[in-house]
Amino acid sequence: MAETTHTLRELHRIHIQLSDVGSRLERGPRQIRAEETKIANLEETLKKAKEEVKQTKLMVSRKELQLSERESKILENRGKLNACSSNREYQALFEQIAAHQQANEVLSDEILEGFERTKDAEVAVRDCDQQLTLAKAELAQVKSRVDEQKQMLESELARLTNLLSEAEAQLPAEIRVDYLRVSKGRGEDTLAAVEGGICQGCYQTITAQSYSELLQHRPVSCKSCGRLLYLPEDRRVGQA
Ligand SMILES: [Zn+2]
Repeated sequence: MAETTHTLRELHRIHIQLSDVGSRLERGPRQIRAEETKIANLEETLKKAKEEVKQTKLMVSRKELQLSERESKILENRGKLNACSSNREYQALFEQIAAHQQANEVLSDEILEGFERTKDAEVAVRDCDQQLTLAKAELAQVKSRVDEQKQMLESELARLTNLLSEAEAQLPAEIRVDYLRVSKGRGEDTLAAVEGGICQGCYQTITAQSYSELLQHRPVSCKSCGRLLYLPEDRRVGQA
């Protein structure tokens, strides 16, 4: 029955490798999705930055138009000053000119500010564009790497699956029934080694009786987690 213990160890080793290959296979598409999300976010940011450039430029040209309209008004009023027939009329025109000039000073500041904002937004567009180019190149790299690994991992998966069936076939019939029942959907959690009298699956201490059955290479399940137990390797006398 020592072969049974050996087979259980072997089965656990294969199950652990299968889990590892499985999780590496799942990791690939996750990495691709992460890159794709990054690109989608950058594209959204780029769209907003371009819209900001467009809107700021529109705002600036509206204000520039307003400014030049007021400039013409000021010139026009200046021309009228000499033709004034009364002091009151002169005063009214003079105040109008002053008010327009003051309004245009505010407008000039706003236009300058608009130029600054446009410049900043244009820098943001360029930055974002560069990041996007890099992210797209990164995605292409990740995709080809994942593709390459996928082929390798899938053939490893096939190899391990065969190995598992072979090892399962070596189990004595009475254990195989238990094993197949426990192994449904549990993968590497089907089995657990016992170290220092402790189940390495759930870290509960096993009973003395279970331990002595294990030493006799009999089938033993952990009473807490249900995993099939095995001793990790043949202990020489005097070894813990
Ligand atoms: Zn356990």
